[in-house]
This record gives sequence, C-alpha cells and structure tokens, in this order.
Amino acid sequence: MATTVTITGAGGQIGYALLFRIAAGDMLGPDEQINLRLLEIPQGVQSAEGAALELQDGAFPLLGDIEVTTNPAVAFNGCNHALLVGARPRGPGMERGDLLLANAGIFGPQGKAIAKNAASDIRVTVVGNPANTNALIAAAHAEGVPANRFSALTRLDENRARAQLAQTLGTGVGGIQRVVIWGNHSATQFPDIAHATVDGASVTDALTPVVGDVRAWQEDTFIPRVAKRGAEIIEVKGSSSVASAASATIDHVRDWTLGTTDWTSAAIMSQGEYGIPEGLVSSFPVQAIDGEWRIVEGIELDDWSRARIQTSVDELIAERDTVRDHGVL
Ligand code: NDP
Repeated sequence: MATTVTITGAGGQIGYALLFRIAAGDMLGPDEQINLRLLEIPQGVQSAEGAALELQDGAFPLLGDIEVTTNPAVAFNGCNHALLVGARPRGPGMERGDLLLANAGIFGPQGKAIAKNAASDIRVTVVGNPANTNALIAAAHAEGVPANRFSALTRLDENRARAQLAQTLGTGVGGIQRVVIWGNHSATQFPDIAHATVDGASVTDALTPVVGDVRAWQEDTFIPRVAKRGAEIIEVKGSSSVASAASATIDHVRDWTLGTTDWTSAAIMSQGEYGIPEGLVSSFPVQAIDGEWRIVEGIELDDWSRARIQTSVDELIAERDTVRDHGVL
C-alpha cells in the first residue's frame, strides 16, 4: 500500500525543494509508493498546483496521486507522514509573543485535524518556526495521538555543525559522527561536540592542533557560526536557506522511519531526561529504533554544557508559558 505524505505550506520555497526529493524516493526509500497531499492557504494554492503539475512532469515511478487542498481534514485524511512546513513568518513590528500566538492558530487546528483524520501510524515533523513550540502545540491538540509521534527539525543545525567541523579539520563530512544539538531550534541552541568523533577518533583531540583552545573556539567561532548560519545565508544569497532545510527534513524523516543507530538530533517531547522539564519539545541526542526516536542515555555533561543547555531550555519554557498564558495549551 502507498504511503500518504502531507505537506503543509507546500506552495512555499521549502515545500518546492522537498516535493521532488520525496517523489524521487529519497525520504522513504526506493520501493515505497507515495501519495501526496498538499495543504495551502488560499494565497498559496496556485503555487502548490503549479508544483503538482511539475511533479506529474517528473514522471516519478513512485508517485501516485497528488491532491492540493485548503482543507486540513482532506489534507490529513489517511496521512502517514505529516510535514508541517507552512508557518506564519514574523511581520514588521511583530513581537516574539505575537508570532507564537499567530502560529498557535495554525498548529493547534492542524493537531486536531491530524488526530481526527490521520492514519494510526501517523508521524509528524514540524519545520515551520518556532518549530519546537509549534510541535508542542500541535501535539497538545492531537488528542489520542501519542506525543512521541511529534518531532521538530534540528537536523539542519546538526548538519551545519558537522559541515563546519569537517571544514575546520579538512576532512570529509561522512567521517564526523556524534555531533548533537540540544534545546531550541534558535540562536540559543547548543551544538555539542564533546562526544563527537572524526574517523573514530575524538574531535576535540583532532581540533586542538588546528584551533588551539577548543572551548574558546566553540564559544567564539563554532557555536555562533552554526546558530547564525541562517542569517549568514540570507546575507550572502539575499534570501533564506531552502534546499538545505528541505534536505535536512528528508534526513530526519528517513532516519525516523527507516532507523539509525548513529547518534543524530531531533526535537522531541521530554519526559524529564537530562533534567529537561517534562512536556517541553527539546532537541536531544537520539537514535531511531523500530520507528521511534530514542534518547541516547548516559551521556556525561560538564557544567559548561549543562549551562548552555539550560539557557536554551529557559527559552523553551518562556515560549511554552507565553502560549499557556493565552490558553493555547
Ligand atoms: P519557506 O518555505 O521558506 O519556510 C517555511 C517555514 O519553514 C518558515 O516557518 C521558516 O521559518 C521555516 N524554516 C525552518 N527552517 C528553516 C531554514 N533553515 N531556512 C528557512 N526557513 C526555515 O517559506 P515560504 O514563505 O516560501 O512558504 C511558506 C508557505 O506556507 C506559503 O506558501 C504559505 O502560503 C504557506 N502557509 C501554509 C499554511 C497552511 O498550510 N495552513 C499556514 C501558513 C503558511 P522562518 O520564517 O523562521 O524562516
């Protein structure tokens, strides 16, 4: 039977970059037939319809039917994978709280529609920002759907961190393992390299002769570069990152579905692991086993790392409290 993949904001830029990779089998493998449901708001429908015509012209053997709709009940009907990409961007003069609430008005109803219409094995990946809190809101409104079926994307941050390490060490990115992101998909995120390896050896040991004081390099160069990479791309390209965000989304869903014992990063509902309060959607080091994210256990964190994680967790708490104070949760 074919897998139904629903993409919200499918008429947008990331949607456009995602659709063709999904249809080509990059996300669910070369044997999985896919039906696509493209959800848009009225202003985005024509763009999504245009993308649907181009998808037909791609003559992808794995692609079954494509439906474009503005109705969440139709879009999520029988859905196995929901990629929630469409979100309200920050407008001029908009405060962070306004942005959170505007998005609550999108992700709350989508959570409800998922609970009512999706298939029992539904997995939801939130890309639209603020992704962690949007995922929390969607999960809170999806009555009856287990919270572990929701996750938000921090894989792009991890991919960026791995790429920066590879470049600094003058090595291939494929040899870099165990780089993980903790916390929020925002400037407070903590890209953690304490347990990272390059071709099986310690990244910290490999970095020392190249950068000198590794901790200082992390604080002054590495972490700001990873956390602000989106802004750097906007400055150079004149518009936001798109294909890399789509590619990370593909990586995330593929690993979640097909499994990985490598350490990777995903924002998932905390059950209190590593002192991160229960009920927050935070990025953790994870593996994917039997179709479920599993937090890697037993990682030792020094005081500096704990403080970094706490800063990001404090931001997640503030986001949650803002939406909670407005009765969204
Ligand atoms: P994009 O496709 O470029 O981005 C979509 C979302 O992904 C934004 O929230 C964006 O956050 C987020 N994002 C996450 N990671 C990244 C990253 N690394 N780089 C850039 N963005 C990232 O936006 P478009 O405006 O092109 O498209 C959005 C579409 O969504 C529109 O077609 C709109 O009509 C639709 N939409 C659909 C809704 C629905 O289906 N109900 C609701 C709202 C909108 P950020 O803003 O922080 O860059």
